[in-house]
Formats: sequence, C-alpha cells, structure tokens
Amino acid sequence: MRKLIAGNWKMNGTSADLPQLTELADSHPNPAVDMVICGPATLLSRMAATGLSVGGEDCHTKVSGAYTGDISAQMIKDTGADYVITGHSERRIDHGETDALVAAKTEAGWAADLHVILCIGETEAQYRAGDTLDILRSQMDGSIPDAATAATTTVAYEPVWAIGTGLTPTPDEIADVHAALRAYLSNRFGEDGAEMRLLYGGSVKASNAAEIFALDNVDGALVGGASLKAADFSPIVTALENSL
Ligand code: PEP
Repeated sequence: MRKLIAGNWKMNGTSADLPQLTELADSHPNPAVDMVICGPATLLSRMAATGLSVGGEDCHTKVSGAYTGDISAQMIKDTGADYVITGHSERRIDHGETDALVAAKTEAGWAADLHVILCIGETEAQYRAGDTLDILRSQMDGSIPDAATAATTTVAYEPVWAIGTGLTPTPDEIADVHAALRAYLSNRFGEDGAEMRLLYGGSVKASNAAEIFALDNVDGALVGGASLKAADFSPIVTALENSL
C-alpha cells in the first residue's frame, strides 16, 4: 500500500483558492505517495478538473432522497472524486455523529467506489484521564465495518485536542498509539489489517512532518490548516516522500 498524504480544507475555499491546487499539482507532477485534497462539495468538480486526486469531507448514508442539504457518496464520486472522509471529530462532535452512523457512511462511501479515510481520536479530557486506547478501540469496534479492507479503507488517528491547536502528542506517544492501532487492526482484519494505512492527523506542518513520518506504523498524515496553501502543504508531501 502506498503512503498517503491527505489535505482537509474543511469549510474553506472558493474559486479564488483553486490556483493553490494547480500549484500543488505542478510541484508534484508524479508524487511517490498518494496525494489527495478533500474539499468542500461546492468546489469538488473544479478541484478534480486540476487532475489532482480529490475527496469529500463527509457523505450521507443514502444514495439519494429527501435529505435537504446533504450530499451522497455517489454525488461525490460523480464530481470526479476518489476519496471521502468519515467520522472526522468535527462531525462526531459538532453534528453528534455516532460510531454506528460513521460505519453506515463508510459503507456508503465504499458502495460509491470511494476510498474512505475513517477518523478516530480522543478528546483532551479522555487523553488526560489515560483513556486514549480504550476510546480508540471502542471507536474502531463501532465505526469500522467488518468488511473493511486495506484497499478500501484508511484509518486516521486524530487526537481531538491536537486538531487546529498547534499541539501534538510526543513522537513516543504517537508511536505507541499507532502500534496499538496496528495490533488491533491486524487482530481484527488479519493481513488486511496489517496493510491498512494508518495516518496521523493533528497540527501536522512542515516543521514536524519528517519526525512524525519517521515513526513506525505512520503511513502518512491527514492535514487541515497546512493543506490550504500549496506552499505549506508541498513540503509535507516532500517529507513523506523522503521517508520512503
Ligand atoms: C484535521 O482537520 O483533520 C486536522 C488534522 O487539522 P489540523 O491539521 O489543522 O490540525
């Protein structure tokens, strides 16, 4: 499985930001890793037209129907996208998404032939209480469907307290958590679990990327703020390529 560097633009970006993608594509015409930018639904078609791999940030569980304001995985696929994020903490927390709903959205993504980047992560209170691994195992139990394979699914570990804060766990903490996640995935999914990509996410930037990518069981990153500008994201892509 190739390593994966994924950006998440969240609710950012209008037409004026599309040149960032052209700049990124021009800087990495032949990346040695998989590179994807997940963006707002309003931009996805135009993002895909740049030739970059793109993804949605969320999807509905259903293909179509009376769900005002929602976007189905098929609609995301129709834009030219190949990926979708499910279970981001901003969906779990701000929109009350349960593990069961994340699992259903993940299956919807697969059904539309989208590769799913499924996010898990503990809150600051859970981290301080020493409950990180229990929380992550319970999120994986509930939100990763049994049919997950390495080809269809990537798991992103994103401590909620590290997202957009400039804080990160120590390299040892990331390595310990990723080792535990790998053990869980291998135990549950066998060979597929051993191969399934594990991303770290939370305040990744050019200055800390190389150190994080050097860790065992870190197969790439999910990057929020530093994915908005090609000048910030490009060195992170290069750091992952250099880790190979
Ligand atoms: C994210 O939103 O998935 C994320 C990791 O954000 P940031 O890189 O800004 O912390």
